[in-house]
Parts: sequence; C-alpha cells; structure tokens
Amino acid sequence: MSDVLVERGPEGTVAVGAIDRMLNLCREHSLWYLLFGTACCAIELMQTGGPRTDADRFGMVFRSTPRQADVMILAGTISYKMASRIRRLYDQMADYKYVISMGSCANTGGLFKDSYAVVQGGDLIVPVDVYLPGCPPRPESLLEGLMLIQQKIEREPWLSRVRGKIPPPKDPWPEGSRCP
Ligand code: SF4
Repeated sequence: MSDVLVERGPEGTVAVGAIDRMLNLCREHSLWYLLFGTACCAIELMQTGGPRTDADRFGMVFRSTPRQADVMILAGTISYKMASRIRRLYDQMADYKYVISMGSCANTGGLFKDSYAVVQGGDLIVPVDVYLPGCPPRPESLLEGLMLIQQKIEREPWLSRVRGKIPPPKDPWPEGSRCP
C-alpha cells in the first residue's frame, strides 16, 4: 500500500492515492463470497468462515444471494445436473466477479473423473481465476485462494476495465452454446 498516503490527524484520517488504487483497495477488502457448495468440499468452505480461520478479518463474508457476491467458490463435485444451476448463479452475480475452483473434483473431476455424471472441471462452465488442489483443500488453503483474488484485484486497472478498454475473460460457455 506504499502508493497510498495515509495521514492521521485529530480531525480524522485522510488517504491520498490514484483513483484506481483507492477503488481497488475498497474492493479487495470487501470480498463477499457466495455461500454455495455442491459436495464435501463445502464443509471446508463453511469452516473457512469459522473462528479458527476467521475470513471476516479480511473483509470476506459470505452472502446467500449471488446478487451481492463477488466470488463464486466451486466447492465440490459438479454433476451435469448442477452445471446449469451453477451457470445461472454465476450469471446472476454482478460484474466484476471471480471464481475459485476448490478441490480435485471441481478442478478436474477428481475421484469421479471416469463418471458419466460428473463435469470434468468447473472451467468448462465458468471462467476460473484460482485453482486449489487437494481433497479437500484445508480452510487455510481456501483463505490463501481468496487472498490471491485480493492480489489480482490490487493489480487491476479498474477504470480501464469499466470503460471497456480491457476485454472480459473468455467465457467457456457463452450464451447459446450447449452445456458441457
Ligand atoms: S475434492 Fe474430495 S472433499 Fe472435495 S468434493 Fe471431491 S471428494 Fe469431496
């Protein structure tokens, strides 16, 4: 945060910096994730909000509606039945949004790689920003994934993105195409 000058005085605190940096600072410290899981990795997701890992101290809290969430966490095995539901939730999230693929099942199908009913990776449905290995990844690992999203936001040229000068990430499942 060296590019933001913070002055504390008797009247209060003043912060001075580039507008991109100030906006990103606010965004990265109010990262709300969608409370949503598809299998056993979701238990670790719930624990991440608990007192031991305490994601709240970084401004990360869960929201039960996609309309207020910034991050989708693909927590668990993704069946074909759930694929369209996941995509609908993703589409209901406001831009700019981020996705963490949590665990082997969400990354590649994992234990169920040969199953006819399981999607072979969440990146076939939504654009994924961070992949977490493990079965399941521990809450500390998920917290690190969320912190990687914070680092990504920190480097984003926010104004250029808002003005459309930077194209959005490639969508693996654009409107009109078939479910994987
Ligand atoms: S990676 Fe392991 S813990 Fe996570 S959903 Fe798959 S089987 Fe369950």
